[in-house]
Amino acid sequence: MTEREINIAVDGHSSTGKSTLARQLAERLRYRYIDTGAMYRAVTLYALNAGMAGEGKVDEKSLVAALPEINIDFDAAHGGNHTLLNGVNVEGEIRAMQVSNHVSHVAKIAEVRKKLRELQQEAAGKGGVVMDGRDIGSAVLPDAELKIFMTADPEVRTERRYIELQAKGNPATRAAVRENIAERDRIDTGRKENPLVRVPEARLLDNSSLTPEEQLEIAARWAREVRSGLKEA
Ligand code: C5P
Repeated sequence: MTEREINIAVDGHSSTGKSTLARQLAERLRYRYIDTGAMYRAVTLYALNAGMAGEGKVDEKSLVAALPEINIDFDAAHGGNHTLLNGVNVEGEIRAMQVSNHVSHVAKIAEVRKKLRELQQEAAGKGGVVMDGRDIGSAVLPDAELKIFMTADPEVRTERRYIELQAKGNPATRAAVRENIAERDRIDTGRKENPLVRVPEARLLDNSSLTPEEQLEIAARWAREVRSGLKEA
């Protein structure tokens, strides 16, 4: 008996620890982890650097015209976990507040979503992937065998993200972090193109009072359940 490799979609609100869970789950299962938020962040960094975004606004027309020039990849040198923008490792830069403040505006653009969705589906290939984002279970991998929807209390999310930014030397006030999380949730949930939704089959993971270890155990148990239900000869 072998266990078939499944695809796992991790969606949810901003700063709920989706990437922490998805990365650890992928390690546990020896699957590939794909951070789709990093891809939207990389396109946003391109737009900021090219003067196509700033002060909370994005020049959609110019960015759409530039899309063929934007190559997003993952750096094999870092276990495939670092994001490359036109061959340059931008993993640090894409986490800055300036990027966070513009990314949901970039992610509203239909052409941007189409390009990144195609790259994501290609990367998922034949399975064995844990992918995190906002529209993975609903649009990118609608056939994923396990779908997880993550949420947490907004204050808990603010505190976690605030501490993470401090640790990375990206200072921001708590108020700015709180405001950014609420604003991204509002735009991500309300947009026309593949908004953030909890599909009915997604299992809800509220990690307000869970440690990373506890949430990993829950998700790993779900993955075991799904995989053993799919065992093949
Ligand atoms: O996951 P992360 O918070 O890094 O994502 C940054 C932003 O990218 C989100 O707030 C959302 O606007 C956008 N995004 C998206 N669809 C995805 C992943 C991220 O719209 N699949």
